[in-house]
Amino acid sequence: MDKGLLLVISGPSGTGKGTVCKKLCEQNPSLYYSISATSRPPRRGEKDNVNYFFLTEEQFLELREKDAFLEWARVYDNYYGTPSQKVQEKLNKGYDVILEIDTQGAKQVKNIAKEAVFIFLLPPSMEDLWLRIKGRGTDGQEVIEKRFAAAHHELQEIENYDYVVINDNVSEAVCKIEAILLAEKCSLIRNEDVLSRLVEEGDKIDLSLHRRNVKKG
Ligand code: ADP
Ligand code: 5GP
Repeated sequence: MDKGLLLVISGPSGTGKGTVCKKLCEQNPSLYYSISATSRPPRRGEKDNVNYFFLTEEQFLELREKDAFLEWARVYDNYYGTPSQKVQEKLNKGYDVILEIDTQGAKQVKNIAKEAVFIFLLPPSMEDLWLRIKGRGTDGQEVIEKRFAAAHHELQEIENYDYVVINDNVSEAVCKIEAILLAEKCSLIRNEDVLSRLVEEGDKIDLSLHRRNVKKG
């Protein structure tokens, strides 16, 4: 069985990552949404083991010491991390796995899994972003302002991503991410074994210089 594809989705707080990922997973049973651990307290309506594994800071740091995270970061004064075991298990079973993580975490994933696909979700405008963070109605004024201000820094990291999706309409954003997934699965670089089965030993196709294999710089 082929290993699943690792999909990283980042974007400023309030862009709609959670909303889009939820719909994406509902529509695609072969997608697994990795539940992160966090030391942030739950928002109204959030459930432990569903939205996050809600931990105390002490519990989080203990797991970090044990190397239990694929990546971790401190974001807006709280710790967030991806539990690695489940991600590996699901990938090995052929599931595609979504990590909804910040730009610091995405950089770490890029260092250990260069085959992962990196998508940056954007709001249609900064005004929309402000209205969405505020409209979510789950954070106080100070938190809202901090998150909005951080959006500008996060945008500076966009060069580390492969694709950009504007979340104007949730269904369209989901559709675009599905299209990216499909295109990635058809990419030459992900189909090397099919190629090697088709060609004779002496005619081996060398993809080592393919643009997707060659790093810039
Ligand atoms: P994030 O996970 O990126 O912080 P959320 O998924 O919590 O963002 O969405 C923030 C707010 O914006 C929520 O109230 C959500 O319902 C709303 N929202 C998400 N996508 C859209 C969209 N395409 N159009 C309008 N509102 C949206
Ligand atoms: P929120 O508090 O709004 O749920 O998330 C705040 C930020 O933390 C978002 O940018 C979200 O993508 C990021 N985040 C959530 N889980 C993780 C994680 O496991 N690792 C990292 N690095 N960031 C995460």
